[in-house]
Parts: sequence; structure tokens; C-alpha cells
Amino acid sequence: MTTVGHFINGEHIADTARCQDVFNPATGGISKQVALASKATVQQAIDAAQAAYPAWRNTPPLKRASIMFKYKELLEANAEKIVAAITEEHGKVLNDAHGEFIRGVEVVEYACGAPELLKGEHSKNVGPAIDSWSEFQPLGVVAGITPFNFPAMVPMWMFPMAIVCGNTFILKPSERDPSCAILLAELLKEAGLPDGVFNVVNGDKEAVDSLLEAPEVHAVSFVGSTPIAEYIYNKGNSAGKRVQALGGAKNHAIVMPDADLDNAVNALMGAAYGSCGERCMAISVAVAVGNDTADTLVAKLKEQLETLKVGPGTDNSNDMGPLITKQHFEKVKGYVDAGEAAGATLVADGRGLVVEGHENGYFLGGTLFDHVSTDMSIYTDEIFGPVLCVVRVENMQEAMDLIDAHEFGNGTCIFTRDGEAARYFTDNIKVGMVGVNVPLPVPVACHSFGGWKRSLFGDLHAYGPDAVRFYTKRKTVTQRWPSGGVRETAQFSFPSNQ
Ligand code: NAD
Repeated sequence: MTTVGHFINGEHIADTARCQDVFNPATGGISKQVALASKATVQQAIDAAQAAYPAWRNTPPLKRASIMFKYKELLEANAEKIVAAITEEHGKVLNDAHGEFIRGVEVVEYACGAPELLKGEHSKNVGPAIDSWSEFQPLGVVAGITPFNFPAMVPMWMFPMAIVCGNTFILKPSERDPSCAILLAELLKEAGLPDGVFNVVNGDKEAVDSLLEAPEVHAVSFVGSTPIAEYIYNKGNSAGKRVQALGGAKNHAIVMPDADLDNAVNALMGAAYGSCGERCMAISVAVAVGNDTADTLVAKLKEQLETLKVGPGTDNSNDMGPLITKQHFEKVKGYVDAGEAAGATLVADGRGLVVEGHENGYFLGGTLFDHVSTDMSIYTDEIFGPVLCVVRVENMQEAMDLIDAHEFGNGTCIFTRDGEAARYFTDNIKVGMVGVNVPLPVPVACHSFGGWKRSLFGDLHAYGPDAVRFYTKRKTVTQRWPSGGVRETAQFSFPSNQ
């Protein structure tokens, strides 16, 4: 059986003393094993990244960018292989895997603008014959720790930007779908990236803690669940590192009485059930304003759920694949049980779904609850599965108050035809990414991605302009070259231009 190892200093490294099974979620079978890095292996990666840093730091941004241009070409040429690896280990439908891959490639494209992004700021004559400039210097060795649900896109949110900024990088991908990261690393080497600039250590808590404890690692980007994000943020900060830790979500969509309901229903179907609900931007709560809106919305969602096609991700005609693991499947099913027991109306029940030929796969059908109240666990918790809750409210302010009161603030959206309502909503809602008739308002690569409240620990968002700030340190230089033999006398008052 294949064991997915590590990629350190341009080479495949085994370190298979501790391993874990990797499953094919569509069959429930073990497809391979993943090596779990020891502290010593993580140190090997840190040493390689440290050794590569001085030369990489001094490599001109234009040269770094030209490697990214080549990388983009290679990614596109190898898309099919990468996408197939995502589907095999994650389970999502191939077209959807291709979608996440492209969103990752878009960050690579943005990183190709490194010379522009890093050119700094210059002010001539800030004082008599004094010039000043700010430049953005790399941090050194930095690390990224990523979740299972986007094995290509989320690592690509991080390393292209970190690398073009002049840092060297260690990626610790999810142990549940580890192969994609190794493919991404091999292609970087092929693109001409010097050995040691990008390294992958597969592993679990031991690898993560080793990175957090290492004084040579200057910054950590994390994406995953909120309890782990908070742990990473606190532990990394107390070790003196810069940390951005993106956490979980419970994204609400408000459906106003004036919305184009057919459009809203189509959008909600994709946003709630696409990728089996395993997206941090998935809509998991629809807040219907008014009972008439709710009745029509629920009826239309129910109708569409009857035709939702669930099956293996290798078949592009399926709308939705399986959940990631047996444990996660049981957890999501447990939430459906809890919602029913708490008295929510179960309009569509995905439990008991059997996919012919894939009886041991982790398939759960699309599930819809109506009359959900805010004290139910299906409302309070991130379920991360194909479960959509409908909450009924009387007006838009009540809907917004619900969203603002929730512990998470990743994404949200409003379906309406009223521009004034939409503007009020975007201006006032306490959420980091907001859509108007756009259910998954994932920012494009030239903006930055991040939630508010307990969906993000740290200040700077992922990729886009914030990534340049996160992966660099500002240095401001003030310079004077005395000329004409003129020397200043000692000045004891604070210098000013007055
Ligand atoms: P997770 O928190 O279980 O794992 C994320 C990473 O942390 C993995 O690499 C894992 O190995 C590591 N990890 C897990 N437990 C650890 C521990 N005790 N100590 C140290 N490291 C540990 O998350 P997941 O299940 O892989 O991903 C799903 C979660 O990620 C969801 O909550 C989802 O909302 C969130 N997510 C958020 C965003 C975002 O941008 N906010 C994007 C994608 C996913």
C-alpha cells in the first residue's frame, strides 16, 4: 500500500515510524497511508527552510515571480491529476474539485505580481535633503497548517504569497487528504523553485506543535476549526510568532419577501449542499423574513432536494459526494437526530441514503429543517454537513440581530431586490464576507479572505493585499547624505519641518 510521506529540501522523505490510514470516502475503503512526522522530521524541514532562506531572500522579486509564472503553467498542465487526487481522498465531485483548484491558481496568478506588490513606498525630501522609504522585508521561515476541505485551494491561499514575499515555507496539510500537497510541491520544484524554499510535512498534532514551538518559525497561517484555530493563535502568539488563524463558520442567508425566490432557492441549494456542506462558506442557515416567504422557500427547497443527486465524486453528474470520514458522518447524523429530538420540523431527511455500489461510502442525503430555533444545537454549532436550517423571523432587523449574535462571522448574504435594504445590510452586518444575491461571497485573489468574531483569530486576512502585510515586516529608512561640507550643529529639540 502507498504511504504518503514528506517533501523536504526538494526530496521525498519517508519517516514512516508513525502512520495513519487515508480513506476513500466514496467506498469507505483504506486507499493509502500517510506518514505522521516526528519532531525530528519537522526539524529537518525547518533546517532546510532556514538554509534556503538567505539566498531566497536576496533573489529579486522578478525572478521569484517568473518561477510563479512557470508554476501556473505546470499547475494547469497537471490539473487533471491534482483534481483526481482531491476527489479520491476528499470525496467531492470532480467539477467542484476543479473549481477549488482554479481558485488556488488565481492566487498564484496574483503572486506573479510580486515586483509590483513589494515595491514599497518612497518620499523624497521629507526634510531638507532627507529622503525616506518603507520597504517590505520577508520574515524568514513561515508555516501553514491547513484543513481537509480544500486540500489544493487553502494551501495555495498561503504559500504562493509567502514565497514571492521572500520567505521559505513549511506546509502541514490535513492528514485526511495529504496527497495533493505533495503534488503541489513536486511542481514547484519543476518550476525552478530552489530546494528548501517549500517543504511539506504530513502529520498530526505532534507536527503542528513542533512548528509552533520552533523559534526558527516566525509566522503561522492556520485554517481549520475554531477550537484548534484558537489554540494555534494562543500558542503561536505566546511563542512570539505572528499568527493568522481562520476558524469555523455558521453562515446565514437572509431571504427577504421581495427576493427572486427561484433564484434564491437555486443559490441556496448549491451553497448549502455543494461539497456536502463541507465548506467554511457554506450556507447552513436560511433566515426567511415572514411566514409566506418561509412557506414558499421551504416548499421549493423540498422540491429541489427530491432531485439532488448524491454519489461518488468521480461521476460529474452527481451534485454531491460523501462526507470525509466515518466519524464525521456519524457526527453529522447525530446532529440530525438532535434537531429532530429538539422539535425542529424535518422536511427532508438525508439519513438512510444508500448509494448503489457504494454501500460503505459515507453518504448522507441533503437534509432540511424548518422552524429551527436559536437554542437548538443544529443552529448553534457548525455541523459541516449537508444540513440546511430554516429560521423564521418577522423582519430584516430581527434577521440581522440573529446573525450578529452568533459566535461566528465568516460569510453571509441577503437575497433581495431592494437596494436600500442591501446597502443597509452590507454596511451594518458584523460579518467579514458579505454577499448580495451572491450566496458564497468568497473574495477573488486580488482581495483578501477572512471572517470576523470567532471565525478569525488575528488581524490580517488570507491572500490578496493582506498576505503581503502578513508575510512581510515593514522597515522604514530615513536617509540624508550631507553635501557641500555642511555639517549640522547638535540639535536638542525634536526635529520638525517647522
Ligand atoms: P481541524 O481543525 O480539525 O484541522 C485543521 C488542521 O489542524 C489540520 O492540519 C489538523 O492536522 C490540525 N489539527 C487538528 N487537531 C489538532 C490539534 N489538536 N492540535 C494541533 N493541530 C491540530 O479542521 P478540519 O476538520 O480539517 O477542517 C474543517 C474546519 O475548517 C471547519 O471548521 C471549517 O469551517 C474550517 N475551515 C475554515 C476556513 C476559513 O477560511 N475560515 C476554510 C476552510 C475550513
